Amino acid sequence: MPATIYYDNDADLSLLKDKTIAILGYGSQGHAQAQNLKDSGCNVVVGQRPGSPNYDLAVSHGFDPLPIEEATKRGDLVNILLPDEVQGDIYRGQIREHLSPGNILMCSHGFNVHFGQVEAPAGVDTLLVAPKGPGHLVRSEFEKGGGVPSLIALGEGASEETKKLGLAYAKGIGGTRGGVIETTIEEETETDLFGEQVVLCGGVSELVKAAFDTLVDAGYQPEMAYFECLHELKLIVDLFYQGGLNYMRYSVSNTAEYGDYTRGPRIITDETRAEMKKILTEIQNGEFARDWISENRAGAPSFKATRRRNRNHKLEEVGRQLRSLMTWIDVKEV
Ligand code: NDP
Ligand code: MG
Repeated sequence: MPATIYYDNDADLSLLKDKTIAILGYGSQGHAQAQNLKDSGCNVVVGQRPGSPNYDLAVSHGFDPLPIEEATKRGDLVNILLPDEVQGDIYRGQIREHLSPGNILMCSHGFNVHFGQVEAPAGVDTLLVAPKGPGHLVRSEFEKGGGVPSLIALGEGASEETKKLGLAYAKGIGGTRGGVIETTIEEETETDLFGEQVVLCGGVSELVKAAFDTLVDAGYQPEMAYFECLHELKLIVDLFYQGGLNYMRYSVSNTAEYGDYTRGPRIITDETRAEMKKILTEIQNGEFARDWISENRAGAPSFKATRRRNRNHKLEEVGRQLRSLMTWIDVKEV
């Protein structure tokens, strides 16, 4: 079934005229959504802890950041734009008791709502409005008169009026200029986690590392391995982005295309596909969420250790050196 998509004409910004929108967190999404809403004429208050560059940024954008509790009290719509792994604790400690019946509790990713870390009190509807792009793009496209396509989803039992307010909100951040796809919190959460685990972050990183290691172990120069297995990936992904797999195959040589058809299926095997299904099941049955929540409760020791180990991979060392030679790249070393 094709998705329902809403555009500017389906949304009425005037519904937000007498409402206050509290944006909790002034990071990637927070700074973009708060400014776009303000430029759309909405009443916005920002909840942001002091002492960080994000606090100063909010001040420099003309906001007067409040403690999270205070911003929640003022908001009719309260959008939690804090990192997913801290939302549960902050919600229970600083947000929940300051919500009033009739308020709408919002998020831009359904993880905490779907897995029971953020549960709205009685009389408060839950609503997801999620831009399908990072905050800087949500802001820059809006400033150019465009908008990043977004998702809308209602929490269980949320009213038709909440949906109308959600569409108005999406219009306020520019989302309806790009199109707002209707989904459910379950679908948004599960597909988002699956995509990042299997393809975007997990799958691609492991593929690149394994291919790099294979060439280096076989005695090829690490610089060559870096170019072939990581650097050139961007050229291919740009072709995907412009015209799908078809356009990539149209653009590369016939030799590359033949290698793709005959060798690709030997890398992504039936075993790989079965493992993808297993990962999807772990997302659906909450096993991944429980794992990630308990890892954070313990101070994320294994997460931090793995991050340290990966940072020192040979691929990163070679990459740092090569990137410094490519003056046209907007290099970001962390
Ligand atoms: P960021 O990490 O960019 O920003 C987090 C904000 O929360 C900062 O203002 C930070 O303030 C504040 N914060 C962090 N920890 C705490 C804490 N312990 N107590 C109080 N405030 C804290 O987050 P994102 O904008 O990336 O993510 C927000 C939400 O948007 C998430 O649900 C995410 O899944 C979703 N989302 C993100 C997208 C993205 O591309 N980034 C895309 C679509 C959805 P401080 O400076 O003080 O640390
Ligand atoms: Mg995502």
